[in-house]
Formats: sequence, structure tokens, C-alpha cells
Amino acid sequence: EQVYKLFERDPAQGPPTYEENIAYYHPEDSKRLQEQERMAIEGSVTADTDYRLRMPSGKSVWHRDTIRARKDESGRVVKLHGTVQDITERKEAEEVLEGYRSELERSNESLEQFAYVASHDLQEPLRMISSFMELLSNQYGDQLDENAQEYIDFAVDGAQRMQRLVLNLLTYSRVGTRGKPFETTECENVLEISLTNLKVALEESSAIVTHDPLPILMADEDQLAQLFQNLIGNAIKFIEDGPPKLHIGVSQEKGFHRFSIQDNGIGIAPENLERIFGASQRLHSIDEYPGSGLGLAICKKIVERHGGRIWVESELGKGSTFFFTLPADV
Ligand code: ADP
Repeated sequence: EQVYKLFERDPAQGPPTYEENIAYYHPEDSKRLQEQERMAIEGSVTADTDYRLRMPSGKSVWHRDTIRARKDESGRVVKLHGTVQDITERKEAEEVLEGYRSELERSNESLEQFAYVASHDLQEPLRMISSFMELLSNQYGDQLDENAQEYIDFAVDGAQRMQRLVLNLLTYSRVGTRGKPFETTECENVLEISLTNLKVALEESSAIVTHDPLPILMADEDQLAQLFQNLIGNAIKFIEDGPPKLHIGVSQEKGFHRFSIQDNGIGIAPENLERIFGASQRLHSIDEYPGSGLGLAICKKIVERHGGRIWVESELGKGSTFFFTLPADV
């Protein structure tokens, strides 16, 4: 940006009056500017000042002033030196960006709200379908032929899958808006909670889970437990043969803890490594591996709410390692 004007002002003149200022400066900025000039004359160090200058055409341009006071031996301010820079282009670009950002935030919020309402209100009718199907099967089962029984099973299965999906959608929509404030959290505890929640699946698959000593950090404990649970749940689900073996590691990385969850599962093809973190991105059919396709999207949202990032490294057939970082600011 071009520095195109230098100015000097005799401190004996005192700061420009409000009326002098208002003629040139945007009304919202002129009080602040006057205060800054007064401080400069009194010899306080001034920060750079951004303000809008009113052009004769009526258009405003953005200027950045840098004012420094020069003092004599006795410390009295004898001169003010300033540079003025035109930063209109940058400010306008910032305003446009800010506009996009808040627009995006608004649309995200209303989407989350929609997902929340939809998933919340869908639960009740779904419960109704499941329980009446069950009643039908229990009370009239002996009057129905094999085909009818099978249809009922399909319907129950569909309703249950939809229930899981709806529940995951609800969890997803709640991460940003209904999270708890961050508190000191012991990750060892969090892991234990997750493993308890996965007890049946862990035992059925004879999974072996090992882990490094885990840190203490600031987090939403429930969300962290959900994060571990989804990643560990996937590690024991996406496996072809043999018991799942997973290791949860931690290393330090410039102000962050970097967690890794390594498995010996089916692995992920390179072209899918990023895609899987999007909502409803599944690489397999429900019959092959059950799931809603929202687990990793929830993980991503949780990690990002905590100021970290999540990614995966993998080789097809050899296993995957999911990494995520969390700020280490305790
Ligand atoms: P879901 O598990 O419900 O299908 P996720 O969002 O948790 O949904 O995962 C998305 C997809 O990413 C999965 O369907 C699967 O194809 C792939 N995936 C996730 N975790 C693993 C893993 N540990 N090993 C191999 N593939 C995985």
C-alpha cells in the first residue's frame, strides 16, 4: 500500500477540535481519533489508528495513521510525526469476507437447528412403528405365515436403523450448539468411559486395546468420550479377520497433543481418506458393515470445536491410523 502523505502538527495548536475533525472524518471514528491525538500530544505512545475519511464526493476512504511524538530533552512533546496510508482496498476486502463469514454462520446455525428439530421430532413416530411392529409380531405371530413374519422383521430392522441414524443426526446437530463449556479433563477417564460403552463389541470381537499414558486437558468430557468411542468403535468394526488390535498413542506437537488410534483393519483407499469425514460418506453397504455414516462427521465437528484437526493415514488391507490434535493449554 502506498504511503502518500506526511503531516506535521504544532502541539501548541492543541488537538484539532471536534468540529474540525467531523468535517473530514466519519462520525463513528472522529471521537476516537481526537482522543488518540490528544494522547499523542501528551506524549503517550499511540497505536496505529484506522479510520474513515470523508471525501468531498461523499464516499469514505479508509486511512491508517501512525502518529509518533518527538520530545525535547525535558520530555516535552515538540512535534508529532505521522504517516497516513490508504487501506481502503484491504478494509473493503475484510468487510466482504466478514459478510460471507456471518452469512455462513447464520446458514450453518439454521441448518443445525433444522437437523435438531427433524431428528428430535422423528424419534417419537419411529418408536411407535417399532413398538407396534413388535406387538403385531407377538400377538398375531402365530396367525401369520413365514412371509409376513419376514416383512415384519424387515420393517423392524428399517425402523431401528432409522432410529440410530436419527440419534446420530441429533448428536451431530448438538455438537456446536449444545456442547458444554470446557473443563479440566483426564483423558484416561474419558478412554475408560468409551471402553465401557463399547464393552459388548470389544468382548465379542476379542479386541486388544493398548494405550500410552494420556494427558489432562481442557475439553468437553462427554464430547471427548464420544470422539474416542466413534474412532475405537470403527477400529473394531472395519476389520476383515482376526481380533482387532488397536493402540492409542499420544505425542506432543507445538502447543497440541496429537492423539493417534491405530488399527489392523481393512484400511482405506487413498482417494477416500478425506471424503469419509463428510456426513453420510460410507464406503461399504449396510449389510457389509452397519453404520450411519455420521460417526466421523461427528468426530470432525467435536475436534474442530476444541480447536484441533483430524485426519487419517491408511493403507488398504494393512490398517488405518486416525490422528487428531487437541490444544494442550492446561
Ligand atoms: P459409519 O461407521 O457409521 O459408516 P463413519 O462416519 O464412522 O460412519 O465412517 C465413514 C466411513 O469411513 C465408514 O463407512 C468406513 O468406510 C470408513 N472408515 C471409518 N473408520 C474406518 C477404519 N478404522 N478402518 C477402515 N475404514 C474406516
